[in-house]
Amino acid sequence: MLKEGISIGKAFGIPLRLHYSWFIVFVLVVWSLTAGYFSVTYQNWSLTTSIVAGVVTGLLLFGSVLAHELMHSVVAQAAGIPIQAITLFIFGGVSQMTEEPKQPQVEFRMALAGPLTSLVLGGIFLAIWYWVGGVPEFIKAICFWLGWINIVLAGFNLIPGFPLDGGRVLRSLLWWQSRDLRRATRIASNIGRGVGYLFIIIGIVLIFMGNWINGLWLAFIGWFLENAASASYRQLALQDILKGHKVRELMTQDCPIVSPALTIQQLVNEQILTSGRRCFPVVQSDRVLGLITIHDIKKVAREQWPNRTVREAMTPFANLKSVGPDEDLATALRILTEQNINQLPVVKDGNIVGMIARDNLLSFISVRSELGA
Ligand SMILES: [Zn+2]
Repeated sequence: MLKEGISIGKAFGIPLRLHYSWFIVFVLVVWSLTAGYFSVTYQNWSLTTSIVAGVVTGLLLFGSVLAHELMHSVVAQAAGIPIQAITLFIFGGVSQMTEEPKQPQVEFRMALAGPLTSLVLGGIFLAIWYWVGGVPEFIKAICFWLGWINIVLAGFNLIPGFPLDGGRVLRSLLWWQSRDLRRATRIASNIGRGVGYLFIIIGIVLIFMGNWINGLWLAFIGWFLENAASASYRQLALQDILKGHKVRELMTQDCPIVSPALTIQQLVNEQILTSGRRCFPVVQSDRVLGLITIHDIKKVAREQWPNRTVREAMTPFANLKSVGPDEDLATALRILTEQNINQLPVVKDGNIVGMIARDNLLSFISVRSELGA
């Protein structure tokens, strides 16, 4: 969902991105600050002053959320966990990690870094509002609102439901104590789902009480939390099942090879219809030229089948995604999902040594999860 968006630069070597949904929040925040908070609290302000204060506060809120996310990422990078990008979206920010922390201590520090940053920022803004003398009312008003919102942000993120920061802190403590990551994740994500449901219920109650904007918003956040919590547990359980198993164990090796000079009609009649196989390495004098699958064949119009050759329709070797026989099954599943393909050639030393299919992987997973193995 967070793939779309615009790039806004880099910090600490990490690309920063804005998801389109972030703009909705920005407009809502600026509008509600200008039309609501500032113009009600400071009735002596002109409309222009309120608008400028709204925009400045919105931008500083954006900076605050970014600082929170950056601190998560900086701590992660210091522990050797690569961060692909930070994306700001409708509910805040996410740091996209390609791997999860391998020790509970690392996750603990990483999870806590964000809310601590928000607390410190909140403290600084409130201190300027309260203590610094001679500050114009305009700046005081902005600092007051940002001070509280940062503290609320820290408090919300510290709710102990996975995948919120507080849930990560809880998971790291359970994991630290029990050494069982899967169990720790199950407990923390169940609490996360519970918090999600609670938000949805409170949201519905608010809607019935006539406070439908806040109610809808809360229910929406609750729904998002519940989804994120179940998805993170499923993903971990999946990785746990696949962990320690190699592509070699599951790949099919008896791939019938075909010649590039064959016409598609011949391939369909002589190979596909008789064997029921869906893909074939294309080989000429012991060199693998590419791979032809049913997917490639369907791109060619049926009348063209007698005239077009396998060479013309295949995916050339250079464009193929592949895995090595000794890579993890989790890696194979990730590539299949990311590329949205059904089978992946297994390549060793430039040769196709087998194929791994999504069907095989899925039945491997379902058998093992049914047996609880
Ligand atoms: Zn956070």
